[in-house]
Amino acid sequence: MKKPIATPSRTKEILETHGMFAKKNYGQNFLVESGIVDKIARHAIVSDHCVVFEIGPGIGALTQYLCEYAKKVVSFEIDERLPSVLADTLQEYDNFELVMQDFLEIDLKAWCDRYRKEGYDVVIAANLPYYITTPILFKIFESNADISAITVMMQKEVADRFSAVVNTKDYNALSIITQYRCDVIPVMKVPKNVFLPKPNVDSAVLQFRFKETDPTIDESIFFPLVKACFRQRRKTILNNYSEYCEDKDLARKELELSGIDVKRRAESVTLEEFIRLYEVHIHESKGSCKD
Ligand code: SAM
Repeated sequence: MKKPIATPSRTKEILETHGMFAKKNYGQNFLVESGIVDKIARHAIVSDHCVVFEIGPGIGALTQYLCEYAKKVVSFEIDERLPSVLADTLQEYDNFELVMQDFLEIDLKAWCDRYRKEGYDVVIAANLPYYITTPILFKIFESNADISAITVMMQKEVADRFSAVVNTKDYNALSIITQYRCDVIPVMKVPKNVFLPKPNVDSAVLQFRFKETDPTIDESIFFPLVKACFRQRRKTILNNYSEYCEDKDLARKELELSGIDVKRRAESVTLEEFIRLYEVHIHESKGSCKD
């Protein structure tokens, strides 16, 4: 590597040379600490035959390290000012491809299948644009694409929710749905002073790895059921679940059959207990609940 992009002086120089400034509406906070970028890239690349799909290369801070360690890097970007910048900053890498498309609009499964057919492991890496962290992750989770690992930086508060355990303030429907689908592995915390411009909050890097899920569970019923139980956090699970079932007696019966005390709150209910409630619900409700 000639020169790391992720330093304050090099980043300022690149921005000045190209007459660029960070755009808030694209969630642009550029990483300026090469040690952190190096660590994210090393974690992201889980085998020696990886293609990395990167969301939002910016001026290439993380991309540069990904290009060093991976066989191939395909980066998706929406900011039309960046192709000419990246052509300059990443000119030494012939394993880099830039795709000027909104990541939320791409056919991720088709992209993934294309590289899987060529024998690559597909991984995703990003310093995510904060304003669309959850939609991006849910797009990946729901894509059915064969992805080996997702290693991404996000606001620390959001990372805390994804990785929250039962009986904590951050534990919510998002935690349960994510942990049903994936193992969530904390990689590191990142202070706000390693970005340009500096955001208001700290960040964290998480890695997600898909788990085997139970094919008999219909997620289009299971996920709304979980969300409904958290609708009003301060209410008991019986009150929230009764609204979902539109029948308090049926809700009580299903909770009792699942072994969940009706006076508990959803934040004390484990993933395994929610799966049991779902199974009882499917068995018992026979169409009387609103799915
Ligand atoms: N990777 C660079 C770094 O770490 O310095 C930039 C990260 S910056 C937080 C987020 C990047 O995502 C920006 O380059 C932004 O333009 C891009 N971006 C924002 N929304 C996007 C979208 N919907 N699809 C693809 N890229 C997007």
